[in-house]
Amino acid sequence: MSTTRIVIVGGGYAGCMAANRLARKTDPETAAITLINARPDFIERVRLHQRVAGTGEAGTPLTEMLNDRVSLRIGAAASIGDGVVTLDDGTEIAFDRLVYAAGGAPRGPEGTLAVGDPEQATTARARLAALGDGAHVTVVGGGLTGIETATEIAEARPELAVTLVSAGEVGASLHPSARRRIHDELAALGVAERRGTYDPAQRSDLTLWAIATDVSDLAQRSGLRVDADGRLTVDRYLRSVTDPRIFGAGDAAAVPGQRLSCQTAMPQGAHAADNLVRELKHAPLRPYSMGYAGQNVSIGRRRAVIQAARRDDTPIRLWFGGRAGALFKEQVCAMAKAAAGSGRYTWLPAPRSARTPATETPSPETTSGRTPTGR
Ligand SMILES: Cc1cc2nc3c(=O)[nH]c(=O)nc-3n(C[C@H](O)[C@H](O)[C@H](O)COP(=O)(O)OP(=O)(O)OC[C@H]3O[C@@H](n4cnc5c(N)ncnc54)[C@H](O)[C@@H]3O)c2cc1C
Repeated sequence: MSTTRIVIVGGGYAGCMAANRLARKTDPETAAITLINARPDFIERVRLHQRVAGTGEAGTPLTEMLNDRVSLRIGAAASIGDGVVTLDDGTEIAFDRLVYAAGGAPRGPEGTLAVGDPEQATTARARLAALGDGAHVTVVGGGLTGIETATEIAEARPELAVTLVSAGEVGASLHPSARRRIHDELAALGVAERRGTYDPAQRSDLTLWAIATDVSDLAQRSGLRVDADGRLTVDRYLRSVTDPRIFGAGDAAAVPGQRLSCQTAMPQGAHAADNLVRELKHAPLRPYSMGYAGQNVSIGRRRAVIQAARRDDTPIRLWFGGRAGALFKEQVCAMAKAAAGSGRYTWLPAPRSARTPATETPSPETTSGRTPTGR
């Protein structure tokens, strides 16, 4: 019996989920699993605002996250060719199947530091720690990451002047009643809100970029079809439309109607793994389908807003906040990490109206229905 060489590129929520699920669902004789990651740590990106504010850490060694059956290669994939991944040191790793889960690569304009980038978050932490009383901190982006970053810093460092800059409405993805609570929480922590775009001329001693726009350009560089944002274009089974040996999952994959979040990265990683297992068993693949439950936004360490949603991701009037919200949010973060580290995960199917259209090759236009702020 031949052994299928499965390579996973990216050890975030999607990649760890896929690798660990494959390890659970395949035999060592039939599948050899290798995960390639640029860093030795699994980064809980949902905690990077804590890294910035100095209120928590986000890294865990990948060796603690991965099933013993998964071989770990630390290195950046430079290209994905015909059945071979080339690392930036020139090493070649052959594959029969690949899961592309390289995630986001947030970048802001010059002079800003991206909260979603682990290294820039570490730099921001040092820069923030060195700021004196009354220094100005600007957080750009009024989505959930921007709210979390601004409130985390304002709570931890009340002597700083924190401004949240947003082109659109702050917390636009939330129900209007929950949004009002967000404005109250920001005001209570002394965070000033400024409507507009990033203006480098405004006084700021530290400017943090909390908008998730960019992804790894690895797929594009490798000649795989991508959408207008550089995300791997996949069919309804999560397979690359260029190379059916490749599955895509997480922030780096253009899955129609999905917003960037670990809430979507994990079921995608799990589904890619399940379809790969089906292929190995010569069973028919199943279309990907996922329904939302809601959104969680932390307000410093002691409060949060937990927003319930319909399965099509429409927020409803049902939400709660305060201390109970903070405890809930903490549980969600811990459970997400535990799920990625075990490969065990179940999720709701999409409502019938939101199911992926039955096309094998979605056009770039149909793959861009993602929120620009991420999550
Ligand atoms: C501050 C913050 C708070 C957030 N809060 C929430 C939240 O509360 N809820 C929620 O659902 N989402 C939240 N998100 C979004 C969520 O973190 C992301 O959507 C999620 O991490 C995506 O998972 P992923 O596995 O696709 O990618 P990532 O987590 O980005 O993982 C990608 C991995 O690929 C590796 N990689 C990249 N390029 C290469 C390469 N060339 N070679 C090898 N390895 C490579 C990276 O090192 C990384 O380990 C938050 C994001 C931020 C920044």
